[in-house]
Amino acid sequence: MTSADPIENLATLIRCPSVTPAEGGALTALAAMLEPLGFSVERVTASEPGMPDIENLYARIGTEGPHLMFAGHTDVVPVGNEAAWTHAPFGAEIANGEMFGRGAVDMKGGIACFVAAVARQIAKNGPPKGSLSFLITGDEEGPAVNGTIKLLQWAAERGERWDACLVGEPTNPDQLGDMIKIGRRGSVSGAITVHGVQGHAAYPHLADNAVRGVIALTDALMHPPFDAGTESFQPSNLEVTTIDVGNPATNVVPAEARAAFNIRFNDTWTAETVMAEIVRRLDAAAHDEKLRPGRAPLSYDIKWAERPSHVFLTRNNNLIASLSGAIEAVTGRAPKLSTTGGTSDARFIKDYCPVVEFGLVGQTMHMVDERVAVADLETLTVIYQTFIERWFGDAQA
Ligand SMILES: [Zn+2]
Repeated sequence: MTSADPIENLATLIRCPSVTPAEGGALTALAAMLEPLGFSVERVTASEPGMPDIENLYARIGTEGPHLMFAGHTDVVPVGNEAAWTHAPFGAEIANGEMFGRGAVDMKGGIACFVAAVARQIAKNGPPKGSLSFLITGDEEGPAVNGTIKLLQWAAERGERWDACLVGEPTNPDQLGDMIKIGRRGSVSGAITVHGVQGHAAYPHLADNAVRGVIALTDALMHPPFDAGTESFQPSNLEVTTIDVGNPATNVVPAEARAAFNIRFNDTWTAETVMAEIVRRLDAAAHDEKLRPGRAPLSYDIKWAERPSHVFLTRNNNLIASLSGAIEAVTGRAPKLSTTGGTSDARFIKDYCPVVEFGLVGQTMHMVDERVAVADLETLTVIYQTFIERWFGDAQA
C-alpha cells in the first residue's frame, strides 16, 4: 500500500501544480490515496461572486465518535523566480536527503505524512474506534473565502461534529518537535485619514498641516504598549504599515495625510475591545490641547479592514497531551506550546472544536527552493501515528 509511504505521497502531491486557485490534480491524487483506505471522499466546490471557484475535499472514515479531524490545504503559493530554483518546483526531486518542491513543507508534506500515518494505523489496528476525517481546502494561500470557512459550514450542515482537530501547517522553527501552536493572536487592520487645511509653508498659521496630525495619531497608536503579554501570549503589538502624503511641493502645507496600521493582539482583548481602544487613543490625541495649541480638535476618519481575525487559545488537555506526548515519545524533546506567528485557518476551526497545529519545519515555506528533509517525513509520520493512537486511546478511556 503506497499511501503508507509519506515520501511517495508527497512526491505525488508536489507534482500537481496546485497554485491557488488551481486544483492542479492535487485533490484527485489525495482522494486516490484515501479511498482505498476506506474513506468516503466528497469534493466540494465553493463559489463567490467575482472570485474563482475553489475545489475542496472532505473525507471521513467511521460513523461513530470520538471524531478526530485533520485539516490542511493542497494549494500552494506561486513559485516566484523559477530560474532561481535548483530543482524544478513541481518535480519532487530528492538531492542530499531533501525533497524539493513548492508545498514541500507548506503544507503538502504535512498531508502526505498524515495520510501515511492513517494508512499505517489502519494496517496495524484496523479502522479507528471512532471517526477520522480530512478537511482539505484549495484556498488557504489565497483569499481564504471559498475554503475552510465554507467547507466547515457545509460539513456542519450535514451533521458533521468533531471532538478535536489537528492542523498540519509547518510549526517548527528549526527542528521537528520544537513547537506546537495551541492558539493564535488576533489581527485587525485599519486606515486613518487626517483632514487639515492646505496653505503656504511660510504662513502655517493660515493652514493646518495634516502631517502634524498623522504623526500625533500614529504616535498615539504606538505608545504606550497595549499590554505586557499574558500567560500564554506575547504582548500585543501594533505596527504602522504606511504613512502617505504624496506632496511634491516644498512650499505647500498638505491638507491630507493617510496612514495604515495592523495590530496583533493577545487574549487581553477581543477584536471589538481592541478596536475600541484604538478609537479611544485616536480621539484622545485628536483632542489633546498640547498637540494643537489654540486649534480645534483634529479632524480624521478611520476605516477598518473587513473581517478581523479573532484571538483564540485551546485548553483541551487530551488533545494537547496526546500530541505533545507523541512528539516527546518519538523525538525525545518536549515541544513548546506556542501562540506566536501569523493567523491560520485554525481561527475558523476553533468555532467548531478544539484545535492545535503541528507540522514540519517551516524554514523554507514560500521561498525559492522550498524543501523538506526526507528523514523528517518519516519522523513526522511516526509522530502523527503515535498521536492518533494516543488520542483515540485517551478519548475512549
Ligand atoms: Zn500553509
